[in-house]
Amino acid sequence: MATPMSEIDLHIHTTASDGTMSPSEVVQYAKKKGLRAIAITDHDTIEGIAEGLQEGSKLGLEVIPGVELSVDFPKGTMHLLGYYIDHTNGELLDKLTVVQRARVERNLKMIEKLQRLGIKIELSEIKKAPEDGQTGRPHFAYALVQKGYAKNIQDAFDRYLGKGGPAYVEKFRFSPAEAISVIHKAGGVAVLAHPFTLNQIQLQDLETVVVVLKEKGLDGIETYYPEHSEGQTKFYLYLAQRYGLVVTGGSDFHGLNKDKEELGEGYGDMNCTYNVVEELKSRRETRCRGLS
Ligand SMILES: [Zn+2]
Ligand SMILES: [Zn+2]
Repeated sequence: MATPMSEIDLHIHTTASDGTMSPSEVVQYAKKKGLRAIAITDHDTIEGIAEGLQEGSKLGLEVIPGVELSVDFPKGTMHLLGYYIDHTNGELLDKLTVVQRARVERNLKMIEKLQRLGIKIELSEIKKAPEDGQTGRPHFAYALVQKGYAKNIQDAFDRYLGKGGPAYVEKFRFSPAEAISVIHKAGGVAVLAHPFTLNQIQLQDLETVVVVLKEKGLDGIETYYPEHSEGQTKFYLYLAQRYGLVVTGGSDFHGLNKDKEELGEGYGDMNCTYNVVEELKSRRETRCRGLS
């Protein structure tokens, strides 16, 4: 039996954030795999969009401009996906600049904290991510291992860089309402990414979170995702139906060498049809009419 294969993949990272393939390479790969549409959704940046769109139109593959915003949520990790955003929208670009600037400042503060702990390390020693990707804690961890201050990446996180650790610096994040509003103002639709990372063990608690997000204008919920169990997927389908949310899916592909998620397949059981794209488009049209 052939591996189940989606027609689409709406969650993909490129070298613009922490993926290992350039936007062009991702589009070429998706075309080769026979996908009908993909969304490029890099972390807090739209740097890869223009190149992805260009390659898509060259190869005849539908590329949806997207972004994945990190959002403040104390109990777990909340990411919001924006689809069909206008990647030239001034307000969106301003907000993303704030995030990027905060990232640079955060790195400086982490270096200072490490130095104060007696570690001989300079910012120049933190190896930059490939291409112009974002530098973050994994690169710090790698440097600490290289310099002999930690046994391995996990050890570096446990002893220095993990949340609450002596070199940890809080990351700048949007509030959920702000993130949804930024996405809408840029003409996009907002989708809650991989709900399992919210760490809401009680289903009721997750439902409450979704209700609040829905009040802020949430449009969809990423239901098909490699890490989701059958039970979780079922519950997210229920939430989508109950609250009128578009059911989306994506692999969170980061490239061939990193992680195991395969483009358009996830762990081999992802099966999203092109209908999802149609639904997102009609949701966006409804929103745009509402705004005009
Ligand atoms: Zn995410
Ligand atoms: Zn992602």
